[in-house]
Amino acid sequence: MVEMMKAAVVHAFGAPLVIVELPVPEPGPGQVLVKIRASGVCHTDLHAADGDWPVKPRLPIIPGHEGVGFVVAVGEGVDNPRVGDCVGIAWLHSACGECDYCANGWETLCKCQTNTGYTQSGTFAEYTLADADYVVPIPDGSELVSVAPILCAGVTVYNGLKRTDARKGEWVAISGIGGLGHMAIQYAKLMGFKIAAVDVDDEKLAFASELGATIAINARSEDPGEVLQKRVGGVHGVLVTASSVRAYEQAYRMLRPGGTMTMIGLGSGALAVPIYDTVINAITIRGSVVGSRRIMREAMEFAAHGKIKAAIHAARLEDINAVFDRLRRGDFEGRFVLDFGGPDYASHADRDPPLHAWA
Ligand code: NAD
Ligand code: ZN
Ligand code: ZN
Repeated sequence: MVEMMKAAVVHAFGAPLVIVELPVPEPGPGQVLVKIRASGVCHTDLHAADGDWPVKPRLPIIPGHEGVGFVVAVGEGVDNPRVGDCVGIAWLHSACGECDYCANGWETLCKCQTNTGYTQSGTFAEYTLADADYVVPIPDGSELVSVAPILCAGVTVYNGLKRTDARKGEWVAISGIGGLGHMAIQYAKLMGFKIAAVDVDDEKLAFASELGATIAINARSEDPGEVLQKRVGGVHGVLVTASSVRAYEQAYRMLRPGGTMTMIGLGSGALAVPIYDTVINAITIRGSVVGSRRIMREAMEFAAHGKIKAAIHAARLEDINAVFDRLRRGDFEGRFVLDFGGPDYASHADRDPPLHAWA
């Protein structure tokens, strides 16, 4: 067994990450040790490294929460997964399993939850520990580098779209066509919605149209609310992955009466909601955070059947600061994924019965 591993560590908010050699951790009771094959880079990792949010991670921290890899060791009491299984490690690192939220499929709201790459060491490392009960089974045969972004971007937008309460054939707008947004367009298409894309970058909007958006609006040069009210009478649902107050204000005005705005983008500002308009138009505004393990399985299954595919830019762990700079500038389409090398496709330990229905 290898004793040392490379990891990207945040030592100070806003400072470059440092690649360090650390001892490979040992799995404790209920934990598994995972050799990372690939890890997506989410804008949340950048918020974490910059200390953008009111509740900040304790430093030093290894970010990363879109990790896929293979179990190489299991701690005491772990029957599942087994050594050799391919698993994903997502934002929801663990939860209590017993509170009302956990008992009702809302473990993402558990007050005792821990979060990968925020309160627990994350996936920007060659190895990481995970909670055996919260790793995500990766369907056999999944292409590992391209499936990684499902673990956060995919599940978050799939869940967020469901929570707009829009129905097949209705209009949804997606504000922010970055890592999350470009996957949202693909899920929205599968879910049978008519799609409007909003961003501040023409290349991202062109990409959104290629992926299936029939209306594309640059929020810098046009007022997206005005355009959508005029062209389609407002949208039934809007999914906001952009994080600025301005993007949220604009998104609110895209809605038709009875419409729902799902808030995904994690800005730290405050949104002023007009009371009269919200009441008279029966508008719903709701936050949405990642997705439960059940929703994760659904999101994964679409990807496993080749229906959702992240647009990937591969990078190495050593490139993480350059990747963060690109994310700050927002000058690329899709998602960066750190490629650690290894098998290209998911596989699992030989077993009978299989780990899950699709293995
Ligand atoms: P990203 O940087 O890849 O994408 C952001 C996109 O927003 C970019 O395309 C950018 O051009 C666009 N944008 C910027 N200003 C805009 C505006 N005014 N109007 C419309 N579009 C605008 O980031 P990402 O990885 O997709 O993450 C997006 C946000 O979602 C981050 O704040 C992240 O922390 C958050 N997030 C939330 C959850 C959750 O569970 N709620 C999960 C994952 C990420
Ligand atoms: Zn994320
Ligand atoms: Zn709980």
